Amino acid sequence: MKNFSIKVDEKRCAKCGLCVGVCPVNILILLSDKVKIRGECIGCEECIIACPEEAISKNE
Ligand code: SF4
Ligand code: SF4
Repeated sequence: MKNFSIKVDEKRCAKCGLCVGVCPVNILILLSDKVKIRGECIGCEECIIACPEEAISKNE
């Protein structure tokens, strides 16, 4: 999965932290009430599936 990345819609995000907990490579963090991406995404889509607000999508 080369060049896979995700984006978070801040307007939809409820800051629940679920995505942070499911990422197998631990690159998602909640910082200053925003979900930040810190590292290389492997494209597993676990965060997209886990988000109850459908705030996460693939970056095409
Ligand atoms: S797609 Fe997978 S690796 Fe990428 S940020 Fe989401 S949970 Fe983490
Ligand atoms: S799971 Fe969705 S609503 Fe919850 S912190 Fe992550 S992006 Fe925001």
